[in-house]
Amino acid sequence: MKQGKVYLIGAGPGDVDLLTLQAVRALGEADVILLDALANRDVLRFVRRTVRVIEVGKRGGCKSTSQTFIERLMVRLARGGKAVARVKGGDPFVFGRGGEEMQGLRAAGIEVVAVTGITAGIGVPAALGIPVTHREFCHGVTLVTGHTCGHGEPDWEALGKSGTTLVIYMGMTNLASICARLIAAGLPGETPAAAIQNGTLSAQRSVIATLVELPAEVARADLGSPAIVIVGEVVRFANVQQSVQALANVA
Ligand code: SAH
Repeated sequence: MKQGKVYLIGAGPGDVDLLTLQAVRALGEADVILLDALANRDVLRFVRRTVRVIEVGKRGGCKSTSQTFIERLMVRLARGGKAVARVKGGDPFVFGRGGEEMQGLRAAGIEVVAVTGITAGIGVPAALGIPVTHREFCHGVTLVTGHTCGHGEPDWEALGKSGTTLVIYMGMTNLASICARLIAAGLPGETPAAAIQNGTLSAQRSVIATLVELPAEVARADLGSPAIVIVGEVVRFANVQQSVQALANVA
């Protein structure tokens, strides 16, 4: 029997208009879709009518008991000749466990095709008009996780001194301590900061504040996950019409 393959597809941050043409083509070829919690269900517009859809994602938390199950399922389907589309939010290799899944699939001798997607940390700020690497304000951008599940801690002190815009994924649970450590590292408390929940979706909500005030403002607005936190002068460019605005000295 012909061996199948697995497409590891990044579906972008939410809005299906942000899917790549490559993703749309791969979705159209798939026999089975494994849909992650963060991926927008609207991607199913681009699949064949006969496709089998399996919802697999779990949201939040560190323990992923289903991860082994998902990998085994993909191996079994691909060995059975199926074209499997594993659809993830954002980009499959940016905090998406795509790397681990690819390792597991390759070890089982399964062909893996990675289909890049717009990662939330780039696509969400862009949707608000935040130019993450504007050269007048920073030397670059750092994508970092605020929730490491026991894999050590990011060096917040070094990050605070890095001169780069910080884009923090999964940062909501530890937001207060992250902001405090960045300030302790020397970042001014008045540094503009933003938290954006459900970016690019109709449910998008955001809070713009100073770094020192961000945790309280986020709590007041009752913002939760999934959200991207952005710290840096470039946040001043945010189109704040729909945001809760607590930035006192916006230019
Ligand atoms: N692979 C994904 C990231 C998965 S980790 C990517 O490349 O975007 C999950 C984290 O991504 C969430 O906790 C949140 O920080 C961020 N995220 C994903 N989609 C988002 C969205 N629409 N709006 C805001 N943050 C989002």
